[in-house]
Amino acid sequence: MQFIDKATISLKAGNGGNGVVRFRREKYVPAGGPAGGDGGKGGDIILEVDPSLSTLIDFRYRHKYRAEDGEDGQSSNKYGKDGGDLVIKVPQGTVLKDPESGDALADLVTPGQRVVAAQGGRGGRGNTHFKTATRQAPQFAEQGLPGEARSLVLELKLLADVGLVGYPNVGKSTLISVVSAAKPKIADYPFTTLIPNLGVVSVGEGNSFVLADIPGLIEGAHAGVGLGHAFLRHVERCQVLVHLLDMSGYEGRDPREDYEQILAELAKYSPALAERPQIVAANKMDLPGAEDNLALFRERYPQMTVFPISAATRQGVDQLISRVWEEVSRVRKELAEKQPEEAPSVQVLRNPGQSGKLSDFQIRRDNEVYVVEGQGLDRQMQRIDFNNEESVKWFLRLLEDIGVVAALRRAGVKNEDTVRVGDYEFEFMD
Ligand code: GDP
Ligand code: MG
Repeated sequence: MQFIDKATISLKAGNGGNGVVRFRREKYVPAGGPAGGDGGKGGDIILEVDPSLSTLIDFRYRHKYRAEDGEDGQSSNKYGKDGGDLVIKVPQGTVLKDPESGDALADLVTPGQRVVAAQGGRGGRGNTHFKTATRQAPQFAEQGLPGEARSLVLELKLLADVGLVGYPNVGKSTLISVVSAAKPKIADYPFTTLIPNLGVVSVGEGNSFVLADIPGLIEGAHAGVGLGHAFLRHVERCQVLVHLLDMSGYEGRDPREDYEQILAELAKYSPALAERPQIVAANKMDLPGAEDNLALFRERYPQMTVFPISAATRQGVDQLISRVWEEVSRVRKELAEKQPEEAPSVQVLRNPGQSGKLSDFQIRRDNEVYVVEGQGLDRQMQRIDFNNEESVKWFLRLLEDIGVVAALRRAGVKNEDTVRVGDYEFEFMD
């Protein structure tokens, strides 16, 4: 099964709100203690399996997503509000891949399954947290962390919802081309000469279905070309068939005979497929003779609903497509009801740039400068307000606590040497 629908999206989770510097101001008390609240967490971006979707067509029109930021903390130790999560619905069977390495990061298989694709940044701590015996009135607070940003490739193996059957030249390719909004990319196929025509039909409000030309296969089977079981399994997933007839009686053909021959062929090719609900459409109604043939056809099958259309002029095509969509959504509803209720799982995508402990750092020399590097340290530095002297002091103290100072000494650093941590440079002083 190699019909691949593909989309690349870029995500930006919400930033954490900043912690704030506030003090209690009570009546008759000139200067109270610190009371700056913490910033709220930024919203996550979550992908969730929605079994009523079948394609990635919506992502062709929109590929940038952003979740809400957390709010800054407030006075009286009040927390800032968390940013709301953004939930993006994806079809069942969507695989998430890393755009650079192409590695699969997650498989979205069960309905309701969720993946946190970008995590919101943590809120910064308010100045209340930095009060110590010797620092009764901290004049600094932590900044919120930025939300994760990442690009993801979504990939979906398309399953055709609707199979189009009919003789060669009845207008199947023409019909697919006039109704489909997108042509999925078709990957390497073992039987390239038999690639069926495939189109994604958009029916508004995020609804779509996949229409595939099956008859090309019947022709192939007829000609004795091996089709492979994988392929048969794929086309057998079609839940609805559209049987297309050339009602103009092209080359002296009789549409009534064509109809029966195709039915017989279909039953030989795949009994399972032959049992699917069928919608019959009479094409080329713009040509002379078509009306007479349609009358004869209706006489032969008085119980049947036939949709007269012209793929060339688009006449009647919308009515046909709404009928097909009605049937597709009915079948999908049935399938969704059959799905066992499983407890949906949540997975958090690993972001290699955002991990690492504070104490995992390296020291290297860049000419005269000692450079301290570490992912955990980078992240912590995003929380520091370097314009605030007290905040910087607190950070230098932290470097000492996590062992940076000791490691610098072991590396041979002397007083007045320059040390660089991230974008911040300072002079080493014992
Ligand atoms: P397929 O073999 O079933 O895929 O048929 P095609 O889509 O290739 O169409 C075969 C021929 O019929 C082409 O020349 C089309 O232009 C023509 N055709 C398809 N639909 C119509 C139609 O509604 N009216 C007319 N007049 N010609 C059509
Ligand atoms: Mg064709």
